[in-house]
Amino acid sequence: MNQMPRRAMIRRSGAVAGAATLAATGLASPATAATETDGPQFLPLPDHAKPLPVPAEGYRLEPVGDNGYAVSAGSAQGYFFVTRTGVVMLDAPTAVSNYLPLAVKRITDKPVTHMILTHDHNDHISGAAKFPDARFVSHKMTAELLRVYTDPDRPVPDITFAGTHHTLRVGGERFDLIYPGANHEHGNIIVYLPRQKIAMMADVVAPGWAPFLHYGNADHIPGILKAIDAVLDLDFEIFLGAHTYRIGDRHDVEMGRAFFVDQWNWTRQAMREVRFDPSVAEAGNLWAAQSVWFNRVADQVSARLIDRYGKDLAAVDAFAHDNVKAVLISLGTDDPNIPADALA
Ligand SMILES: [Zn+2]
Repeated sequence: MNQMPRRAMIRRSGAVAGAATLAATGLASPATAATETDGPQFLPLPDHAKPLPVPAEGYRLEPVGDNGYAVSAGSAQGYFFVTRTGVVMLDAPTAVSNYLPLAVKRITDKPVTHMILTHDHNDHISGAAKFPDARFVSHKMTAELLRVYTDPDRPVPDITFAGTHHTLRVGGERFDLIYPGANHEHGNIIVYLPRQKIAMMADVVAPGWAPFLHYGNADHIPGILKAIDAVLDLDFEIFLGAHTYRIGDRHDVEMGRAFFVDQWNWTRQAMREVRFDPSVAEAGNLWAAQSVWFNRVADQVSARLIDRYGKDLAAVDAFAHDNVKAVLISLGTDDPNIPADALA
């Protein structure tokens, strides 16, 4: 491999384009962003977003409300609630799938009678088959997707609902299942426990963190804002986001909304301001010219996002550049006519 100055390597790597914008924002001091260590440098994690201590068992078990528990390992969380008649689990993420049966046993001898599957994604429900006696509950779209996959780790639910609302009552606890329309994934639902003011939704807001790459392979990026607003319409105090290290609250969801709206509006604005120049590539190679334009838009918007949110949300610089391009494509294809103030 040719020797290349490290700064030049950073500039040439699209994966760290966000890091390259740090210096321009003033957030990256030479001590944090330009030290001569191996690999790209990123912003430090805010204290509230850092990993929490993990006991010797290999996972964290924390109470949620008066009969619920969060089981965390890595950056994933699963949840269960102990009712009068049995345990209701919300998802069975891959990272905690071996721990969930142990965690339930530490708390109760009652069987897991129901598992609500928030959506079909493998990383959230690949542990479902470890509970073969449970009844699985999801939106109809989730069941349809799971029927296509024929994955033995992800059973097809036997209790499904179409439309926007369904209420599941188990052993004195009420679970409202709310579908706000296509969002991170078709069929991805909010689970709301009104008695305890707990709202859970996977992969839409990660408490304390900026959005994951391409909003986690999002099906419909504008629908993410609709989903966030559907959560904020609820009377809740505890927010469970299924990822990162801690339990969230209303402020986390409001921050997620603010970030989304700024990213959307600033991308829309930059698309108007940054000039598209076909002369940067061979005549007729519009994809190459568009690639240059996309990157210029992303450079501008990701620098603004890092400047505004880099101290409050974790890892804004990791995926901002990629996610601005995802929003740009969404603006160009899903709904180019959404006015900025309709989302603000
Ligand atoms: Zn997902």
